[in-house]
Amino acid sequence: MHLRRTRALPLRLKRRSARKRPRKMQGSSELPGFYKLSLQQRLELLQRLAGLTEEEAKTLANTGGLPSDVANRMIENVVGGMTLPLGMATNFLINGKDYVVPMSLEEPSVVAAASNAAKIARVKGGFKVTNTGPVMIGQIQTVRVPNPKAAAKKLMSKKKQLLARANAQDPMLVSLGGGAKGLHVKVIKSLKGPMVIVELFVNCGDAMGANAVNTMAEAVAPLVEEITGGKVYLRIISNLADRRLVRATATFEKEALGGAEVVDGIVYAYAFAEADPYRCATHNKGIMNGVIAVALACGQDTRALEAGAHSYAASSGAYKPLSVWKKDKNGDLMGILEMPMAVGLVGGAAKVHPAAKANVKILGVTSALELANVMGAVGLAQNFAALRALSAEGIQRGHMKLHARNLASSAGATGALVETVASRMVEEKKIRFDRAKELVAELSNTRS
Ligand code: NAD
Repeated sequence: MHLRRTRALPLRLKRRSARKRPRKMQGSSELPGFYKLSLQQRLELLQRLAGLTEEEAKTLANTGGLPSDVANRMIENVVGGMTLPLGMATNFLINGKDYVVPMSLEEPSVVAAASNAAKIARVKGGFKVTNTGPVMIGQIQTVRVPNPKAAAKKLMSKKKQLLARANAQDPMLVSLGGGAKGLHVKVIKSLKGPMVIVELFVNCGDAMGANAVNTMAEAVAPLVEEITGGKVYLRIISNLADRRLVRATATFEKEALGGAEVVDGIVYAYAFAEADPYRCATHNKGIMNGVIAVALACGQDTRALEAGAHSYAASSGAYKPLSVWKKDKNGDLMGILEMPMAVGLVGGAAKVHPAAKANVKILGVTSALELANVMGAVGLAQNFAALRALSAEGIQRGHMKLHARNLASSAGATGALVETVASRMVEEKKIRFDRAKELVAELSNTRS
């Protein structure tokens, strides 16, 4: 198929672009050979193209704690680094063990909220987390199968052979007690007719497992074609990791969390999320605030976790909350979170990013399952904190104090002026960018 390189512009834009070429990013984005340049050369080229100042180029060149050669190997076309704040959530007591939890993200209030929730959970013994083990699913898609039902039966009869072919790919994983342990075959209806889908169940040990599972799925494919007489296309891991679940529970004492009214408010908030997908999306987003912040700090694949979480939330056919909140017989609040948690300590960025390695050390986890358990507890804590704030005082009070500081900085305040401008906006209950700009101008003039 021939792709047109430019789309017709609306007339108004066309005239303007004919008069005046865009000043910054000029020319084509094709950049032939960009990938062959050194990191420094790429950045210089980009600086010219985008008209970056020396200061801006220097900011991008800073790879933080990540050596530039490591960054250059991790992804492609690297020009530098992009850092996020790293905070430590405190007070976490999970399965009887204390954890200081590294969290990396851009959103204010999350770390404070997690620490506060964990403090309240401690009153009743902290978090209890269990998990189903590190099993991931690899899928092999087979199409144009002459007799799908008979083929599915035949595949099941060759289970031993198929698993052996998969396991031959990863003697290391097998020697550690992992590997392909089970097999399932299903015939699905699709827009393109019936398909036979082979699913490998792989115990990934301390690995997240995507590379390991994909390699196995690819190796098994020729055998699947031979057995079915069909054609294999996709051979890939599923991120709906419903055989790799964590289940975190905690009880939050009624008095410690703010009283019976707050407990009721949270139970009502849960009922709202259970009944309405618009609310449910935000309910689950609150959980992911915690999960993804720990994942990022520990070098995990955050997209895999997001995909797993939301597909699991929708696996009944309707989008549902990942957690359940109820009142127990004492009137205390009980939370239960269940979600996929595909994380690893070997492979991926967890093994190569020096900051991720340091964070795993701070956390003190020694297995992928322990990391998954901690992330489950943090997800539950974060969910509790958001629901409590919403039910008790509204989310804005705590959130906006920190947000006001960010607004003050982006409006040009520096040093002590950040706090002064932020405090004024909070006092005035006008936490807005336009007000921050006015205050920065006003207070800077007063000072000078
Ligand atoms: P990997 O291949 O680097 O490491 C896994 C391997 O390490 C195993 O196959 C095993 O041979 C070895 N190993 C050594 N000690 C082990 C132990 N104690 N437990 C288990 N294995 C051990 O990494 P991976 O975990 O297979 O793949 C993760 C990477 O794949 C991530 O970077 C992820 O982003 C990426 N990825 C994800 C997807 C997806 O989620 N859809 C798709 C492709 C790639």
